[in-house]
Amino acid sequence: MHRSRIIVPVSHCLLNPNSKVLGSAAHWSEILPLTEYLFSEKAGLYQLPCPEQTYLGCKRWGQSKEQYDNPYYREHCRSIIKQVLNDMSEYIRNGYLVPCLLGIKGSPSCGIDHAFSASWAGEISVASTGQSPGGIVPGSGVFMEEAADMLNSYNLNIPLVEVDETDIEGTINRLKCFLPG
Ligand code: SF4
Repeated sequence: MHRSRIIVPVSHCLLNPNSKVLGSAAHWSEILPLTEYLFSEKAGLYQLPCPEQTYLGCKRWGQSKEQYDNPYYREHCRSIIKQVLNDMSEYIRNGYLVPCLLGIKGSPSCGIDHAFSASWAGEISVASTGQSPGGIVPGSGVFMEEAADMLNSYNLNIPLVEVDETDIEGTINRLKCFLPG
């Protein structure tokens, strides 16, 4: 079988929305044009581990970047990225192209240009009545911050590109700059 030798690592929930926080919109149909585009470009999709699911499981609350921004979660992120970077190094060393890595706009973990921010803490019953709702702000999520740092330490030049799940056509247009076409 002919192989393209193109690999795109993608955030876990792009291929498995079941990993998203409970209550997040299911979005198979919205995402489908993106995966179809990537397959049409003959990209092999490499599913990154979901850092939140593997840290707090299925019953986690939706949290902010500030809540994930602690040494314990960062250490968890680094531990699960290591295998990914070893895989990417090995592929690249053998002539494969990794044109970009896809994160998720607004995620406190997997955002690349935008992450959800809120200064939340304490009992959830108090939090639900007393604290600001937070919002999306410029900046990366914690997992992607650690990924960028580790990519540098591995000397891997893989651009990080954000998927806007509310604008898949715009995302596809931006990806055209990275994929060989
Ligand atoms: S942490 Fe990342 S992979 Fe997991 S659900 Fe959130 S955006 Fe998707």
